[in-house]
Amino acid sequence: MFDRWRAWFGAACVLGVMGASTPAWSYSPAAHVKPELLVGALEPLLNPLEHTMRFWESWSAGELAPAEVDEDAWRRVDAFDWTPPEPTAWTMVGDYPVVGTPRVDELWHTITRFKRLHWVRTRYRLKTRALRALNPDLDLNTLEVGQRLRVWRRDEARISQSVGTPSRGWLKDGEPLPSGEKHKVLHAHRAFGTYYTVSELVRVLGAYAERFPWAERLIVGDLSLRRGRKLSPHMSHRSGRDVDLTYPRRTAPPDYLRFHYIPRRDIDVERTLWLVRAFLASGMVEYMFIDRPIQRLLYREAQRQGATPEWLRAVFQYPARAGTRAIVRASKGHDDHVHIRWRCQPTDRRCD
Ligand SMILES: [Zn+2]
Repeated sequence: MFDRWRAWFGAACVLGVMGASTPAWSYSPAAHVKPELLVGALEPLLNPLEHTMRFWESWSAGELAPAEVDEDAWRRVDAFDWTPPEPTAWTMVGDYPVVGTPRVDELWHTITRFKRLHWVRTRYRLKTRALRALNPDLDLNTLEVGQRLRVWRRDEARISQSVGTPSRGWLKDGEPLPSGEKHKVLHAHRAFGTYYTVSELVRVLGAYAERFPWAERLIVGDLSLRRGRKLSPHMSHRSGRDVDLTYPRRTAPPDYLRFHYIPRRDIDVERTLWLVRAFLASGMVEYMFIDRPIQRLLYREAQRQGATPEWLRAVFQYPARAGTRAIVRASKGHDDHVHIRWRCQPTDRRCD
């Protein structure tokens, strides 16, 4: 399991260090696990720098104090069985969710010819004052191509909240999903989610990278904007609980710039089913939207692997066309990607 942490951390480091040679954005290498579990939940708030440094040291050494990791959250991936998924809430200790996944602390944008200050302001919904506060040492009037601009920084005192519904709500204090070893985030400014959305993606995609080291990278499309609300062309994706993710395929996609049509025979059914099960294992997924023909492939593969009728009924709408309470549902337009939506969690105050 430490390998998985190291791999993820390595990817974050590479992105951070590569700086100007990366695409228009990159992540800070400073990632850490928060909050502490049973003891000293307040300690990192009182002294965040020292906490980060301490974590950094243990991480670079390849060692993590077991008390800082929610071992169960990671184990769920390796231990899933055919028990029908039960709705489960985010584990909390007091007011704090217990998270075992690595997180990023900062998000950076590198100025390019076409993605200058105006682009950053509108895409990240940042006023000049906020950008100044994030970049006190920069003169925003004289930015040049290649310069890096901090566009987001974690506020240790706040936990993200999904407000309202996915089609009418918004996102408070969302955090960005970083690209990883086996997944590429299409647009950094459209990849903000709640703490649990991002954490669950990091958990499952990290496990995917470990389980299928030879596989092509997956493409992660939109989550939400930094503050949520309308995100064209989606009806939902407004409150940080939705994500679009390409199906695993047998051959490499033509490029990593957008979603591509995937011929049915090119979908890797086994790996897709693995992903579905890994996401469902947390009990926090509300829906997945997958086209009916692909559901049929997954249904048959699950049967072949020994799925129980109860599991199949709880998970797939197929073979029914409507009127079931299954998690995986058919919805038009989901032939090149799966749409995953997470349930509201105790950290959300006005979520539905
Ligand atoms: Zn979607």
